[in-house]
Amino acid sequence: MTENIKKFYGEELSRKQISDGKITIVEHSPKVKYAWSCGEAMSRFLNELKEGKLIGRKCNKCNRILFPPRMFCEQCFKATNEWVYIKDTGRIMTYSISYVDTHARRIKKPILVGVIAMDGASKNMGIMHYFDEVKSDKIKIDMRVKAVWKRKEEREGAITDIKYFKPLGE
Ligand SMILES: [Zn+2]
Repeated sequence: MTENIKKFYGEELSRKQISDGKITIVEHSPKVKYAWSCGEAMSRFLNELKEGKLIGRKCNKCNRILFPPRMFCEQCFKATNEWVYIKDTGRIMTYSISYVDTHARRIKKPILVGVIAMDGASKNMGIMHYFDEVKSDKIKIDMRVKAVWKRKEEREGAITDIKYFKPLGE
């Protein structure tokens, strides 16, 4: 209510009017269902994750492999041309070491998170994910990493089907 409104017109209902049956009441529970489409590229990407695979889209004009996949090349202003599987290994482009959790509570073991440039995708194509099996003082830019997947029966078509990335240990 804005400060200028001193009184609403009409008559306010009392609890008594309702309990005495003076007011007509209709109870209704709507059956509302939502369906949300991820779009062509993201739907395929998520379905492939469920299979333990990473897929990108190739643009035949600039020859780039876009990852995560996009149906449209933002550089060429045209539709991308084909699906291309890429590897589940890559290189750390950037990372953060967080000593607070998602509830902003201080934690002893830091959360390592960052962007990984995936092998097989074009330059500067990366996804954000967690790192583990690496100490916070050992993690480095350009470190080679590999995806650690959930077991097939646990996967649900989400980016979290990859648990984290660990050092490749070459
Ligand atoms: Zn292009």
